Amino acid sequence: MSYFVFARKYRPQKFADVVAQKHITETLTKAIENDRVSQAYLFCGVRGTGKTSIARILAKRLNCANPQGAEPCDQCESCLAIVKGHSHDILEIDAASHTSVDDIRELRESIKYAPTGGKHKIYIIDEVHRLSPSAFDALLKTLEEPPAHAVFIFATTEVHKVPQTILSRCQRYDFKRISESELKAALKEIADKEGLKITEEALAELAKRGDGSLRDSLSILDQVASWQHDLIDEKLLTEALGIVPRGEYAQVLRLIRQKNTTEIITKVNAVLNSGIDASEFVRGFQQELRLLLVLKAAPNLATDYGITTEEVAQYDDILQGYSLNDLLRIQNLLVNLEQKIRDGFDPVINIELAMLKLVAMEDSVTLESVLRQLAGNPGSSKVTNTSPAGAPKTHQSELKSPDPSPVLPLDSLTPPQSNPPAVSSTAATAAVAPADLATIWPRFMQSLKTTHRNLQIKLTLAEPRSIDDNKITVAFDRLGEVHVRQLQDRDIQKTLEHVVKGVTGKTYHFQFFVDKNLAHRQENGNQIGLLAESEKPDHPAVIKAMEVFDAEIVGRQDLADQ
Ligand SMILES: [Zn+2]
Repeated sequence: MSYFVFARKYRPQKFADVVAQKHITETLTKAIENDRVSQAYLFCGVRGTGKTSIARILAKRLNCANPQGAEPCDQCESCLAIVKGHSHDILEIDAASHTSVDDIRELRESIKYAPTGGKHKIYIIDEVHRLSPSAFDALLKTLEEPPAHAVFIFATTEVHKVPQTILSRCQRYDFKRISESELKAALKEIADKEGLKITEEALAELAKRGDGSLRDSLSILDQVASWQHDLIDEKLLTEALGIVPRGEYAQVLRLIRQKNTTEIITKVNAVLNSGIDASEFVRGFQQELRLLLVLKAAPNLATDYGITTEEVAQYDDILQGYSLNDLLRIQNLLVNLEQKIRDGFDPVINIELAMLKLVAMEDSVTLESVLRQLAGNPGSSKVTNTSPAGAPKTHQSELKSPDPSPVLPLDSLTPPQSNPPAVSSTAATAAVAPADLATIWPRFMQSLKTTHRNLQIKLTLAEPRSIDDNKITVAFDRLGEVHVRQLQDRDIQKTLEHVVKGVTGKTYHFQFFVDKNLAHRQENGNQIGLLAESEKPDHPAVIKAMEVFDAEIVGRQDLADQ
């Protein structure tokens, strides 16, 4: 059974009914009133935030026979046909299942014919980032010279995958994640209309589970409503959905602070034995930590997260007992724990182990002290870590560690080694004089950046390895298998060969592979090619610290300067 009853029943039919996207509906309304409708729109944002709903309202209004100001009438033949999904002038395409160039060719054929009923022929293409590169190229030709009656509305959850050439031809609208307080208000309105009795706490829980998406929150409400209880409260919700009641985590955190090992193990086992899934327990714990981090680092945002003043008061002792660094370390440990469970390690044993680690947790260790420890002396270089631990300090008193320096993930510190670490893999495995690649690669990436930005961003994750007469080999790290597969696509290969020929005047084929020893890289659209020789870390302590923290160098400063 599918749970989309409320989402469908309460799908907004007018701009005025859309939840939480006023900045978008107001701009669109103005454009319509001033008769300045664009021919191509791009709607970006996470799922369930109203992209398709607004696309349909816009389509209805554009073809409405009897518009009411900027709103559609919802009564004319065209409006009714769109609501029922019968309109011949509105084509909704799910790019996830129509990715090929043939699908776009079909679209280009059909677009030539004038609309049958209304003034416009409107193409709503959902998840547009899923189109193949050649399909994008075909689409681009249409976007360059669209017939006057055509309007395109693209929707995407991953705008960074949409080529620059398409982006530059669209009016872009960024949909915001719906805040928990807005979700709560929308849920309450629908619950009232349905005559459902539901407590404030249960509404808050539903809003939290929605994670920014009204559709997701509503599908849980559907499910709960179908049980036909007189009152929906938090207890019913947590029991029936197999989730941990909010107060339980707070209790665990208090026990950790008291270093009460026996009670913690008993409590955690009681929760897990009550039928709650282990990964659900960890996921819920992470959400609780996120909430505490907000309260600690940015308490003025509490209402946006649907946290009431009474709830803030309930967390007060925990916020007093943990520093921001402590909370970040706990969150870090939970993220690792979730990964371990996903990798198939025994969930119960690992949860217990993690809780014991938290009990044993001492004050946060700062990066500087670790560096000193690793180097065996006060050190000669200062590294700036990019971890979010340097978040703004709060007005809450920091009881334990007043220093907001980067913190150490609890289980990632390895003891200092007596022998110096191995040389970076780049130097060890390059098959030819690195000068050739070092010259060609940055120019190739620069050129790719202007023409195929999505490919360029993907390749910043990789490391160029070797070049010979007709082949360039490129390595991805252990997480790069999916990229290697995608880049083997014939069309993409042709594109890359074309770009590199433009740079070198020669034809090179590309060979991609996974090197499990390659350090993981972050996606970075601005980074082009290899790190300049002078910026490479040389001090063994710096290299070691970069490994320990998975860090990158963003600046360099001699301590003697201070
Ligand atoms: Zn109408």
